[in-house]
Amino acid sequence: MATSLESYFYLSSSNHANNESGPIVLPRETEVAEKQDKSLLRVASALAFICVRDQKEVYAVAIRFSGQSSVIFLAENYGVPRETEIFLETVVSELGQLARSQPSREEPPNLRDTVQASDETPIGTLILKHTFPKFFSSLTKRDSTWDARVASIRVYLAERSRDLKLFQIILQQIGVIYRSASLLQSRSNDALQMNRRLTALYGDLSTLETFIRRSNERDELARLLAEIDRTSRGLPAEPDSIIEDDLDLDLTENNTLKDGFSMTRFIFRIIAVNIHIRRLLRLAVSPTYKSFFDNYPIIKYCPPVERSAVVDPSSLLKTMNAHEGVVTKYELPETITGPLHAELSIFSTLLQESFSGESPYPAIGVSKLSCVGCYAIIAKAFPQVIKEHEGQMGSMNPFIIQGTHGKMYWPWVAPDLSFATHFLPFDLDLSMRIAADQYLREALAQYIDSRCLSDSSIGSGTSDRLEGVGDFAETAMQLAEIRDREISEELAQLDGMI
Ligand SMILES: [Zn+2]
Repeated sequence: MATSLESYFYLSSSNHANNESGPIVLPRETEVAEKQDKSLLRVASALAFICVRDQKEVYAVAIRFSGQSSVIFLAENYGVPRETEIFLETVVSELGQLARSQPSREEPPNLRDTVQASDETPIGTLILKHTFPKFFSSLTKRDSTWDARVASIRVYLAERSRDLKLFQIILQQIGVIYRSASLLQSRSNDALQMNRRLTALYGDLSTLETFIRRSNERDELARLLAEIDRTSRGLPAEPDSIIEDDLDLDLTENNTLKDGFSMTRFIFRIIAVNIHIRRLLRLAVSPTYKSFFDNYPIIKYCPPVERSAVVDPSSLLKTMNAHEGVVTKYELPETITGPLHAELSIFSTLLQESFSGESPYPAIGVSKLSCVGCYAIIAKAFPQVIKEHEGQMGSMNPFIIQGTHGKMYWPWVAPDLSFATHFLPFDLDLSMRIAADQYLREALAQYIDSRCLSDSSIGSGTSDRLEGVGDFAETAMQLAEIRDREISEELAQLDGMI
């Protein structure tokens, strides 16, 4: 092959390219085939999501669930920190205890409301505590642009008292969460007090999550927020088709200055931790996954992998005349070094396990949507190679993954699959590179600069609607008022102490 796969990603690096149009964005793809079991992917994705403590971290998780043994594989781009290992072991052990102490519950709709608040809080606060640094950083950028945006939405809704009221209640909830989180962020040596604040914040998040996703007003709210998002982007208030259920959020897109800011995404980013906690709790008592957690899962950690590759973007560009305008300046070929992305570490490890006769891990969950490179390898090249070499790869099946946000990230390096030569009659590493190259080439040829990007894996599934939660708006307002008073009192006490 003339150029390496890595060269594609070098194209997108602003450090290396005179690329004024920003990173290259290929089409977003998040289709998971209907026939595949998404709940396995959900367990893996939720576990990956709750591990993220720092916004820069990316976790990938694969789980195996066969008879009496449960295994969890965890990887992070730069290696899993020890504190995260301890955290995940604690969470998994807590979920196991929940699975053992609760009778198995039927699948939805009954399952939806069967996890009691008392089951939820300890594990919820445990997870919220671990993820708090990332959570808090997603809240803090409420600047003058945010204020201006809120003001313009109020003007837009001025004549519609019901909608304006609903919007005000959402703002009120966000305000409570913001104050509650700020209180938690302020230092305290009193562990008991910190725990109380954490529990309170978890309650505040639950209130917003219930209002947005599970109350009787949820459809009204979804329509209202979608309309606000469309009009703020200059689109007509009424969509051509019915509301997209694609309530995705971008964990990195928290700057309200950014064009295309979505109120819906902003809210879902805030309640994302809550959504994942609920999913895990429900799965831990579900008839299908109860025994996964009950089995005392073994947790394995993939060590970080660093790889080097020769990149030659100039030669690559010469073969793609149509896109010379996209990126303009490149130097001579050079050798680059980068970390293997977490999902590729897992992918490579799982292939080795599979060749050694271990039973398969069907899904790879990632704490956000994958980049184009990882998606090209796992979701495009691998299934194609399996098809091309039918009968030569045993019972190997493609992995289920959530999808790609379409961005090309730098640094990116391809996995080394040369170990497969011991097991296969063909060169897997080469076949994978050829297949991935073909996909990337075609995708780049259709390069589009999409404005609606998302890195997250939340929300593309159906929402967990709770039957029987009535109108919630009034309750939400009352709760917000109570919480506002509590927080103010606590702040006053803090002032008194200083
Ligand atoms: Zn990647």
